[in-house]
Amino acid sequence: MRLSRSIVGQEEAKAVSRVLLEDGYLGMGSETKLFEEDLAAFLEVEREQVITTNSGTAALHLACDAIRACSRKTSGTPEILVPSLTFVASFQAISAAGCKPVACDVLANTGTLDLEDARARITENTIAVMFVDYASNPWHLHEVYNFAKENGLRVVEDAAHAFGCRHHGKRIGSFGDIVCFSFDGIKNITCGEGGCLVCFDEESARLAADARLLSVEGDTAKRFSGGRSWDADVKRQGWRYHMSNIMAAIGRSQLKRFPKEFLPKRTLRASVYAQRLVKQEGIALLETDPKDFIVPHIQVVRVLNGKKELVRKALEERGIATGLHYKPNHLHSFFGHGKPSLPVTEQLFSEILTLPLHPALSCQDIEEVCAVIKKALSA
Ligand SMILES: *Cc1c(COP(=O)(O)O)cnc(C)c1O
Repeated sequence: MRLSRSIVGQEEAKAVSRVLLEDGYLGMGSETKLFEEDLAAFLEVEREQVITTNSGTAALHLACDAIRACSRKTSGTPEILVPSLTFVASFQAISAAGCKPVACDVLANTGTLDLEDARARITENTIAVMFVDYASNPWHLHEVYNFAKENGLRVVEDAAHAFGCRHHGKRIGSFGDIVCFSFDGIKNITCGEGGCLVCFDEESARLAADARLLSVEGDTAKRFSGGRSWDADVKRQGWRYHMSNIMAAIGRSQLKRFPKEFLPKRTLRASVYAQRLVKQEGIALLETDPKDFIVPHIQVVRVLNGKKELVRKALEERGIATGLHYKPNHLHSFFGHGKPSLPVTEQLFSEILTLPLHPALSCQDIEEVCAVIKKALSA
């Protein structure tokens, strides 16, 4: 049983062949524009706020780059607070933008950023806080924005897990500062690879839209109408981070399928896990806020009392794949070599196990996973 997979079929194949056979332009063009319009409609924002990219990591990099460029702090390396328990992409994006990722501890009950720990790590060089919707959980997100406001910080949301989620009724990506999504192969929707950022100030949107096309000023508008900026100025560093028409065509099909197909399938599967495991001794589920709406990307559980390896092996013996989200980033040699020590993150690292979750899994499969866990823990 697989941990995750891309769910694509005839719709995506048709969309791609339309671009290949009829459009005759595979780069960033009309299809990318339409995908940005579709995303903007879904998120209830303006098209200009949505900037598609060739990966979620690229979106995070552009977000950190724009925030750094807008920052008025001049001395010292700019710092961005970030939970250690995240995909290494969050950290790499911060350092790629010339900023220092400052690893923070997380809350034991959710795996999301511990704001009290983050507060203690603010310095005169801190310019932003990155919040990660760990396991699709926008836990106390409004408090993150209050925290940022109180401390004069920008906010980057790494919402790679949270496409389709809501915080206290509001859709993730419909409000905030800069919100980044990933459309890689196994996320809630996919473009094959891809991502986008949603900017809530014009300056960041303009910087990011240009920077994804080598910072050729205004090139997005030209490409969307079938042309190019041949003689525009370049004033700053940029990258080749744009999304192609092929990727956008896949994304548009996926977005159409999301509300009626992927969303209910993911939530149903997570609810079967919750029903079966909520009373399971030796297992703790991550806590969520009943006022939030979660479309789960990964199914993380905590295996208590040092029994994780036992459970993992029992699942493996039955051919059931498991994952580990994530090795904490402060333990990587590039990002801290285990310093500072983050006790809650390190404790969670020893407990967390990711169970199979994707729309093609049957509820029977999930029953089987839970039965194997139950048996392993009662042995
Ligand atoms: C997937 C993911 C990313 C990066 O997105 P890519 O599209 O794979 O580059 C960043 N952060 C988190 C938490 C992710 O899960």
